[in-house]
Amino acid sequence: MGRIHLLDPFTVEQIRAGEVVERPASVVKELVENAIDAGARTIRVRIAGGGIDEVVVEDDGEGMSPEDAQLAVQRHATSKLTRSEELFALATLGFRGEALASIAAVAHFELLTRVPDALEGVRVKVSGVTLTEASPAAAPVGTTVTVRHLFFNTQPRRAFLKSPTAEGSQIEDVLIGLALSRPEIRFVFTWDQRVVFDAVPQETMVARVRAVLGKEWAQDLIVLPEEGEDTGEQGIGLSGVIAPPERHKNTRTGQYFFVNRRLVKSQPLSFALSRGYGELLPAGRFPLGVLSLTVPPHTVDVNVHPTKREVKFQDERAVLHVLVQRVRGALDQANLFKVAVLPALSLPGSSPGEVPLPDPADYPIRRKSGPPPAEPMLRVVPKPPAQAPIISAVPQSAPQPVLWQRPDGTEFHIVGQSHGLFVLAEVEGELWVVDQHAAHERVMYEQVLTTLHQRQGETQPLLLPLTFDLVPTARAALEEMHEYLTRLGFDIRPFGGNTYQVQATPPYFRPADTPDLIRELAQARAESRSENSVEAKLEDLAARIACKVKSVKAGQTLTPEAMKALLSSLLACQSPFVCPHGRPTMVRLPVHHLAAQFDRR
Ligand code: ADP
Ligand code: MG
Repeated sequence: MGRIHLLDPFTVEQIRAGEVVERPASVVKELVENAIDAGARTIRVRIAGGGIDEVVVEDDGEGMSPEDAQLAVQRHATSKLTRSEELFALATLGFRGEALASIAAVAHFELLTRVPDALEGVRVKVSGVTLTEASPAAAPVGTTVTVRHLFFNTQPRRAFLKSPTAEGSQIEDVLIGLALSRPEIRFVFTWDQRVVFDAVPQETMVARVRAVLGKEWAQDLIVLPEEGEDTGEQGIGLSGVIAPPERHKNTRTGQYFFVNRRLVKSQPLSFALSRGYGELLPAGRFPLGVLSLTVPPHTVDVNVHPTKREVKFQDERAVLHVLVQRVRGALDQANLFKVAVLPALSLPGSSPGEVPLPDPADYPIRRKSGPPPAEPMLRVVPKPPAQAPIISAVPQSAPQPVLWQRPDGTEFHIVGQSHGLFVLAEVEGELWVVDQHAAHERVMYEQVLTTLHQRQGETQPLLLPLTFDLVPTARAALEEMHEYLTRLGFDIRPFGGNTYQVQATPPYFRPADTPDLIRELAQARAESRSENSVEAKLEDLAARIACKVKSVKAGQTLTPEAMKALLSSLLACQSPFVCPHGRPTMVRLPVHHLAAQFDRR
């Protein structure tokens, strides 16, 4: 007897079901997508036990006739597609005709539905692969699908599920995504009898973001500006919102992508979003964003994954380019630098209107003789309550002030330097406190990047060439980046075996730092995942060099000329307000805020 035989139908079903139904969240996604396709105005989702015990999806869509309801639970039964050519011009989310059959194969499945012109509806029950009931039943117009005891007949699958809390969270995340994709539909999500969100129909995605992601997320989000004509040409449109860079997370969970209103997971899109933030984001952190792409339907394949969660673009580069540029543009326009807000000092133990008596100890008198007091000349007393910093970054709830528009030739006046750390300057009705080190890093970063693009770096030969050894991975990194390093003014040559020699570096670079730089590049290369565009590499290189240059150090006294030069260069930068690592370069104190502190108006 041969060893090859056909699998029995039950096993075949279970294998295929496994492709579509991975976990409770996939059940919810398929059922809600069906409800959306059915034209529902309201979709209610209830789950119990993380969706493992029960998922109910109720819609007020077009419903199904009794015949259709029985067909619907069979594999490759779909009303959405009749010919394969239509696959690429699809307006519906479903088309494979597999979801209901797959879910029914691995759970206790019940469907209750009625079309508007029928007097009664139908109840269809399936368990495993057997239809156990199809009978007339009273039902509201629309469809309610109940899925209980997921994987009751597929124990190995069940064993792979996480805790009900974890599975429930995944459901919540999928529902947030789906709700974001259709602000016009009401979504009600109930988890173990508790309403998690009830998002009424909204006009815009931004409003929907507030409803399902919460006020905290929504208060300072950055809306992508309307697109220019250039992107419209390729037929690639992008809209959505992103969060300011400092709201980064350590996972991609705050990211939602839609392609032609279909919720998708996409590493390339996620990488492109990070690229848009570029150096605003600390390494290993992920920005938040809700981004909706529209592309001509025939340029995207939605049928590359059984759960339709991935898509493939005909011209992925073009799509990613649009995403990176638009995100970057939005961040450029947004106000990414800090404006200090001075809270009105509320003094402990004093009621409003009561002026506390000054404590002489707060105003040490410097005697002519004797050492100067170790205490600062003026202390802020009394301390504001609850460790509130006197100067804090704008609280998240404060309205964003109208900010500086990066005009040519902003007027500024250097006031001086403070503590060897900060440059103080008057700029357009504000006092700026500039972190000299961070500012210099920003300036250097942009200079290096410009040099990389213009290929005309200055070079300074070394009197004594420097030799060093490199491990093979670092040699590979050096080879890869050699052209760019040369553009910057480095002259690094092989010197036999593992040894290399630096003969020249850019004037601002300490030659002794060269081997370190190359080792860092090798490390970055090893760690970088699929995000490897040339532009990304150049930015990374520039940030690393800016970090190593003979930079203005904290604690270094600056001449007025040096401060002036630093501030002029900073103001000429593309992104003057953050250092290459995403930290602010300055804090701004509007004079009227200061005046208010003195009860002046
Ligand atoms: P697909 O969505 O790929 O067509 P499904 O297995 O998800 O496949 O659904 C099969 C068919 O059942 C759909 O094509 C649709 O006609 C019908 N159907 C499923 N869910 C609903 C619903 N909530 N309301 C109306 N019709 C539905
Ligand atoms: Mg479907």
